[in-house]
Amino acid sequence: MTAVNAWAAKAAKGPLVPFTYDAPALGPNDVEIDVTHCGICHSDIHVIDNNWHITDYPCVPGHEVAGRVAAIGDAVRHLAVGDRVGLGWQAGSCGACEWCVSARENLCPDSVATCVGHYGGYADRVFADARFAFKLPDALNSETAAPLLCGGITVYSPLRHYGITANMRVGVVGIGGLGHLAIRFARAFGCEVTAFSTSPAKEAEARDMGAHHFVPTHDAGALKSRRDSLDFILSTVHNALDWTAYIDALRPDGRLCLVGGPPEPVSFPSFALIGGQKSVSGSVIGGRARINEMLDFAARHGIGAICETMPLADVNAALTRVREGRVRYRMVLTR
Ligand code: NAP
Ligand code: ZN
Repeated sequence: MTAVNAWAAKAAKGPLVPFTYDAPALGPNDVEIDVTHCGICHSDIHVIDNNWHITDYPCVPGHEVAGRVAAIGDAVRHLAVGDRVGLGWQAGSCGACEWCVSARENLCPDSVATCVGHYGGYADRVFADARFAFKLPDALNSETAAPLLCGGITVYSPLRHYGITANMRVGVVGIGGLGHLAIRFARAFGCEVTAFSTSPAKEAEARDMGAHHFVPTHDAGALKSRRDSLDFILSTVHNALDWTAYIDALRPDGRLCLVGGPPEPVSFPSFALIGGQKSVSGSVIGGRARINEMLDFAARHGIGAICETMPLADVNAALTRVREGRVRYRMVLTR
């Protein structure tokens, strides 16, 4: 068995330290990936800090992987050694439940997370069920494609699932890793796009990404002025917001969809929903078919993440930049 060289947190909120583990024996359906790039999703911070009370230590984070196939199990047919692939939040599923057989593996109750109870992509290699390794289209480079594997699919999937079409007005709350990709996808769908941000300095870049309107949310009046203006709002923020103000920004039949996970209960008066028959819902990553579709769409429309890169060896400095909200717009670790 050969050793895998990784970076791991040994305790909640701890720094990452070099960590070596034995490569697992490759099962017939498995893939071994040589990691070339790994995005830092804010979920990695939640996992390192054990915010969701699901983290096992040592914890090797990383679930926005791009790399090359190093080895495949005997039964793998869709990949070959040397292929350029991506791996996201999900590294396995049961393959047999109603969700897996209807192309919604993201809802499988036995889903395997790439970096929870499993060693993730802040490493030279990562291992997964090969069904969750996706060939990267030639038109996408590995650096800007790696964040599509979690951030990209997480914002693309609800746009498709909820039937967002070109005639609709879409709001994106929080212009970070997920949010900037949401602006790009919604614009490519043909929608009128409104960006909501706590950072006025992001306005020019948000417009370059494709936003038609920019609402600085520290100004409560600016948010309230958007009342009754949007069909769909995607919140990518991990903090509590004035949820009633966002629901009020929806037009009748509109939907607020949460992909960012604030720890506090999300509350609003029932009549905020009832009068206009509005909905609030959540969404989690996306199934395999949707991931392949998203990669194809991204390749056709030239959509990738706007990245900063740092070497994997500087992972702690990179995490600090993410924690401080200084990254524009996704940090990608390189090897
Ligand atoms: P990120 O890159 O850190 O971006 C988050 C953005 O939220 C920031 O850029 C900022 O945008 C805004 N923000 C930060 N603090 C805020 C505050 N106190 N109030 C209001 N807005 C604030 O994070 P990310 O990687 O995009 O991830 C965002 C969330 O999505 C995380 O909670 C992550 O766990 C979750 N996530 C969920 C899924 C899923 O399947 N549902 C998948 C991946 C990630 P502005 O500067 O524009 O305000
Ligand atoms: Zn993620």
